[in-house]
Amino acid sequence: MSERLGVAGFGTMGSEIALLGACAGMDVVAYDAFPEVLQANLPRLGKVARMLARDAKFFAAAQIADDAGRAAVLARIKTTSNLAELAGSTAVIEAAPEDPKLKQQIFRSLAEHCGPETMLATNTSSISITEVAGAVDNPARVVGMHFFNPPSAMQLVEVVPGLQTAPETVERGMALAKALGKKGIRVKETPGFIVNRILMAMMNEAITLYEEGVASFEDIDDAMRLGANFPLGPFKLADLVGLDVYTHACEVVYRELGRDKFRPPYTLRQYVRAGRLGRKTRHGFYKY
Ligand code: NAD
Repeated sequence: MSERLGVAGFGTMGSEIALLGACAGMDVVAYDAFPEVLQANLPRLGKVARMLARDAKFFAAAQIADDAGRAAVLARIKTTSNLAELAGSTAVIEAAPEDPKLKQQIFRSLAEHCGPETMLATNTSSISITEVAGAVDNPARVVGMHFFNPPSAMQLVEVVPGLQTAPETVERGMALAKALGKKGIRVKETPGFIVNRILMAMMNEAITLYEEGVASFEDIDDAMRLGANFPLGPFKLADLVGLDVYTHACEVVYRELGRDKFRPPYTLRQYVRAGRLGRKTRHGFYKY
């Protein structure tokens, strides 16, 4: 089935997911509550498309190889600040801010405007899919589709059913991930899913080693890069993710599972209190 893709939230993640849809030949309607975001992010996608065109492994590289091709792809994305315009979508991926109440409100509106056949997916990183789905009358059509940042470059999508998600919805999520040029993997609902759960435990352990004075954070990063072939060490990664986002994700997983390894280390809390949030504030563990 060729999808007509709706995207709700046209920020960092949603805008690039919309671009992937357009690259896959889908008509895309991208909704954001803030018109200025739509205006700012659409031109950004032109630059992203130019970058992707240089990557021979990108599934739609040939289509966006020249200006005309890129313009044709971008023309498939219609932006709107009216959620009702998502009504004709066969699938909607929500990528609004990580707030359960806000996501539930968006899903209630989506369920109201989109027909019962429309698959509703959330890109949440840490909110329970079951909780988001709880906002709609037919939770069988709701699924988690967790993309990674930046969605244009990262190959994985974790496809996560909630308690009441229908198996067909999971299959549709997997098929949609594939159509968007991604490798989908099925993950049972669990806080942090697979990748973030492993990363959090690893980054927390790295900070604990640093707090114990075992080595400097720069040396711990080197150890993981040179000894485990990581492309970047845990501290660089934490700075990239944002120490506030990382702390919040740890808190969610710790609250749900009660395991000490997910408790945000004290240094992390202190840095967040000081406004040292990583790359975005030019100071985290490293200075930028
Ligand atoms: P973002 O802040 O860049 O984008 C969110 C967008 O939602 C903004 O453009 C904002 O204007 C819009 N928005 C706000 N209220 C809205 C509403 N009521 N209706 C529609 N749009 C609204 O955030 P992001 O980084 O793109 O994250 C979006 C989602 O993706 C979150 O759930 C986040 O946890 C998840 N996620 C983020 C990353 C990441 O690294 N950034 C990775 C994986 C998943």
